[in-house]
Amino acid sequence: MKIPVLYYHKIDFPKKNAVYKGLYVTPKQFKRQMALLKILGYSAIKPEDLISFIKGHKLSVKKPVLITFDDGYENNFTNAYPILKSLGFTSLIFISTGFIGKKKSVPDERESAPEDFLDKNEIRSMYDGGFSIGSHGISHYYLDKLDESVLIDELTFSKAYLENLLNTDINFFSYPFGAYNANVIRAVKKAGYSGAFTTAKGKVGAGGNPYELKRIAVNGYNTIFNFLYKIIFLQ
Ligand SMILES: [Zn+2]
Repeated sequence: MKIPVLYYHKIDFPKKNAVYKGLYVTPKQFKRQMALLKILGYSAIKPEDLISFIKGHKLSVKKPVLITFDDGYENNFTNAYPILKSLGFTSLIFISTGFIGKKKSVPDERESAPEDFLDKNEIRSMYDGGFSIGSHGISHYYLDKLDESVLIDELTFSKAYLENLLNTDINFFSYPFGAYNANVIRAVKKAGYSGAFTTAKGKVGAGGNPYELKRIAVNGYNTIFNFLYKIIFLQ
C-alpha cells in the first residue's frame, strides 16, 4: 500500500490575468474532489501518521490520504477550510512566513495576478480546528540557490515564527518550487524538521526518505476522472 499526498495551491476562481491558471482549483471542483474521497472511504491523515507509516508502523485507517496546500493563500481559509471541515477532513498547510497577512502579493515573480495571504488569526483558527501547519520558508526562495547562512535563516526563522504563533512544534517543511539538493536536506534535518515534501510526482511508500516525500499535484485542469486516476492508479 502507498499513500497519496495531494497538493493544492489556490482554491478559488482563476484570475483573468493569471499566468499560472492551473494553480487555481475552483471551490466547486475542490468540493467534488473531497466528496469523492469521502464516498470512496478515504480518511485524511496528519503528517505524523505519514511518517509513522514510512517507518513501518501500521495505520489505523484503511484508506489514508494526506491533503496539503502550499504558500498560505487566504482562500485556503475562506474556501477550502469550510469544505474540509464539513467532511471531517484535516489537512496540512505550508506557509511562507514572509507573506503572512500580506494583501495582493506574489510568491513567484513570474506570476502577474497577486493574491491575499493568510493572516495570523486565520492560521490560528485552522490550527485550533485540527489542521496541521508546516513551513514553506520565509520568502519563497529557491533553496538550492542560496548562500548557507540565508538557507539556515529561511529554515529556522520560519519554523520559530510559526512555533511562536501557535505555541507548538513545527515539524514539517515543503520545498518552495520543489527545489532542493543534498545540502538543503542536510540543513532541513539540522533545523529540526522531521519530514519534508517535494513536488516529485508519486505516492509515498513505507521505507522511503522522510525528507524527499513525493506528492500528487491537483490542478484546475483536472477533471474528476483525472483526479480519480491520480488517487487510485498512479503509483
Ligand atoms: Zn510554493
